[in-house]
Amino acid sequence: MVAGGAGFLGSHLCVRLLEAGNRVVCVDNLQSGSVENVRMLRRFSRFTFLEHDIVEPLPVIGRLDAIYNLACPASPPAYQENPVHTLQTSVNGSLNLLELATKNGSRILQASTSEVYGDPAQHPQCETYNGNVNPIGPRACYDEGKRCAETLFFDFHRTKGTKVKVARIFNTYGPGMRRDDGRVVSNLVVQALRGEDITIYGNGEQTRSFCYVDDMIDGLIKLMNSPRAVTGPINLGNPGEFTIRELADLVLQMTGSKSKITYLPLPVDDPQLRRPDISMANQALAWQPTTELKTGLKNTIAYFSDTLTERKAASVAAV
Ligand code: NAD
Ligand code: UDP
Repeated sequence: MVAGGAGFLGSHLCVRLLEAGNRVVCVDNLQSGSVENVRMLRRFSRFTFLEHDIVEPLPVIGRLDAIYNLACPASPPAYQENPVHTLQTSVNGSLNLLELATKNGSRILQASTSEVYGDPAQHPQCETYNGNVNPIGPRACYDEGKRCAETLFFDFHRTKGTKVKVARIFNTYGPGMRRDDGRVVSNLVVQALRGEDITIYGNGEQTRSFCYVDDMIDGLIKLMNSPRAVTGPINLGNPGEFTIRELADLVLQMTGSKSKITYLPLPVDDPQLRRPDISMANQALAWQPTTELKTGLKNTIAYFSDTLTERKAASVAAV
């Protein structure tokens, strides 16, 4: 089962699992995912889609070997739109999936996040760092929800022997992101391709470490298939660290765009620095990302360029 399988990472994960010969049930409420992803996945005969909100208990589905919980809006504008529901998704949703996994004896993997470290006082971030999250700020519905989900995973593991895995995912990008997703890579690439102003929040000196989607999917599958004793939490991300200004310059250079940069206010509690220490993933999973930012951006720019051209052609045809 892939909960959140109609979203960006979830749809890539479904494709990889289906191509490897698995049967996949995707459970998604389509809040930030897309029907196009579901349509694309329906070409596989072993794929089933269940439109369902994981906040509600799940129907009987049959035997499940593995449950990936990716269900949760991941972009700040998306998760802040209905903060209470975001919190319920991480807390009640994880609880429902943990109960299902425990009843079925399935392995269950939680897509946690670097946001559990908040605006970190330790750099780079390793798994032993307990973080610096503002519990009452606008990002808390996501950060605290994900922290609580981790708590639930380890309580189930300790008290019921549930086979848990927790991945702390750092910023991941690539083809398949929504044009209007609101995260920095999709925003900047789409703005550059359309010749619109590039929006940098704050002075652009804040950093992020960007992981290409294919590398992330490798890491998630490796973690799911790792020995039972490997529970995590385990950082998955690319340690290459860039300021947002550097990212904007690279996007402008690679698209050849004449877009201007415009500076907008920095969102409240926006983390200043972020870079994963991935020694644990390296040792426990023999995993490390292999895609350079330039290579990943090239593919991402080509993807958005194609989808924007198709859209233009469709609207011309409609006229
Ligand atoms: P996304 O928003 O594209 O996908 C999330 C999917 O979950 C969507 O299809 C959405 O409709 C679905 N969903 C949301 N709430 C749901 C609910 N209550 N019930 C059922 N389905 C629900 O985001 P993504 O980038 O693909 O992220 C996937 C997961 O990975 C998320 O849990 C996110 O927190 C985590 N993560 C992602 C990143 C990243 O950079 N992409 C970083 C850290 C963590
Ligand atoms: N950001 C930006 N312009 C945008 C979108 C985001 O400068 O159009 C910044 C944002 O303030 C943050 C960084 O880019 O510092 C990464 O933002 P994103 O929303 O992608 O992820 P997150 O903040 O959750 O890491």
